[in-house]
Amino acid sequence: MSRLAYVNGRFLRQAEAGVSIEDRGYQLGDGIYEVWAVMGGKLADAEGHFARLERSLSELRIAMPMTRAALTIALRETVRRNRVRHGIVYLQVTRGVARRDHAFPTAESAPTVVITARATNAAASEARAAKGVGVITTPETRWARCDIKTIDLLPNVLAKQAAREQGAFEAWFVDAEGLVTEGASSNAWIVDADGILRTRDAEANILRGVTRLSLVDVAREAGYRVEERPFTVQEALAAREAFLTGAGALVMPIVSIDGQPVANGHPGEVARTLRAAYIRRAVETAI
Ligand code: PLP
Repeated sequence: MSRLAYVNGRFLRQAEAGVSIEDRGYQLGDGIYEVWAVMGGKLADAEGHFARLERSLSELRIAMPMTRAALTIALRETVRRNRVRHGIVYLQVTRGVARRDHAFPTAESAPTVVITARATNAAASEARAAKGVGVITTPETRWARCDIKTIDLLPNVLAKQAAREQGAFEAWFVDAEGLVTEGASSNAWIVDADGILRTRDAEANILRGVTRLSLVDVAREAGYRVEERPFTVQEALAAREAFLTGAGALVMPIVSIDGQPVANGHPGEVARTLRAAYIRRAVETAI
């Protein structure tokens, strides 16, 4: 079965789908994206991702290309046509096509909307979670608006590549004060030496992870103490547990940082419990 992509209102074979070479996303990185986990063929944490999508667009002064209802239909239809039960659906919206110029086009250009969906291997993901993953650390080199989910991902690309080359799953950005900001495509968490769950404040310069936000609720409901407070790499190494969150990896235990073990080098009980609780809730509330 060939994969199908939604491109500006039409479903096209993905291998043949394309946009103009003058699309501002291609030329200038002038666009945003959003990713929903697909669970049982439905969109997980839908509301949070829509809210962030609208915020990213409004921060860049790009109009919402269609209503939420219409977008929900397009996203679901992309998932259905690609027969995805478990995986991700990716939406990209750019400022559209115009003659190359840094400033916004003067004539109204319609945003370019692309949606793709792909299945991921749930069993492989569970196996990875059971074993835990390694992260490396890398200096924070990004701009001051990491709260916008823009398609400009070069520092994240380089960080993730460095992680791959060192056999790690993720790279954690570390700021000038030695504090972990977040991962290249995930938010960072620890269970500190006092048993407190800590993740960086969303008002700091990080992406406001939707999985992160849901997990704060899930964890508090389960009786854990959660503090939105940053931590250093040393604190993470001295922590009881570390883990990461994101729409792709969901909740993933971290067992090493720069090759050094976190606690006993095995996934911790809190991360395991929260992964299960998060998935249960996400499946129940998916639309
Ligand atoms: N931080 C960054 C830089 C990301 O790219 C992502 C996801 O792609 C996240 C955090 C996690 O966000 P979410 O849970 O909404 O997927």
